[in-house]
Amino acid sequence: MKIDILTLFPEMFDALNHSILARAQKNNLISIKVTNIRDYSKDNNKRCDDYSYGGGAGMIMTPQPLYDAINAVKTKDSYVVYLSPKGELLKQNKVEFMAKNYNHLILLCGHYEGIDQRIIDMCVDEEISIGDYVLTGGEIPAMVLVDSIARYIPSVLGNNETTSEESFSNNLLEYPQYTRPSVFMDKSVPEVLLNGNHQEIAKWRKEQSLKITQERRPDLLKDNN
Ligand code: SAM
Repeated sequence: MKIDILTLFPEMFDALNHSILARAQKNNLISIKVTNIRDYSKDNNKRCDDYSYGGGAGMIMTPQPLYDAINAVKTKDSYVVYLSPKGELLKQNKVEFMAKNYNHLILLCGHYEGIDQRIIDMCVDEEISIGDYVLTGGEIPAMVLVDSIARYIPSVLGNNETTSEESFSNNLLEYPQYTRPSVFMDKSVPEVLLNGNHQEIAKWRKEQSLKITQERRPDLLKDNN
């Protein structure tokens, strides 16, 4: 998958050059290109924001640099996403859908009080929110989207099974996990995990998943019906 990120703060995306995402890029499983929207500004001072028509606090990102930056990277396969608190709330099933159905994503990061509505109307396919709160910019939401999508790209994770048994798959939260030592400060790992009986382990894990989901996110269980 190819991902183009359009932002006024490209340095923030250094965070994508570590760990699993760094390896995925090195192995050409995912290509991430970050473009500075300011490079496309035709303003003499390279300005990319201006006051809001109608008044109000805060600056709005102007349409010209955004329009030109989008069109510089856009192809007929591109899907343009604007990260926005007004967008559809990001869920795991949406992440999986995007990983499987889009070859080229363009992620538009707003800043200040947001972007001129005409860019959303003319250029954006979808607005996505990462949660019901407001952040200073779309950069962290874009990284959240890239990281969550990358995990669904084949071979990005060491073990392809990993995404199928974790929280939100089958609308369940994950069961508790333990590693060595089997006793830590008088606390033992549940006996069932030590006996090597895979049927019993699977049964215990399913029960634990149901229990924790019922306690913490009963809304997920309703989605199973
Ligand atoms: N004035 C906007 C509003 O009330 O909806 C908020 C603008 S916010 C301060 C600046 C930028 O951060 C937005 O343009 C968007 O790109 C990004 N942003 C903030 N919160 C977000 C969220 N929950 N999900 C996705 N993007 C978000």
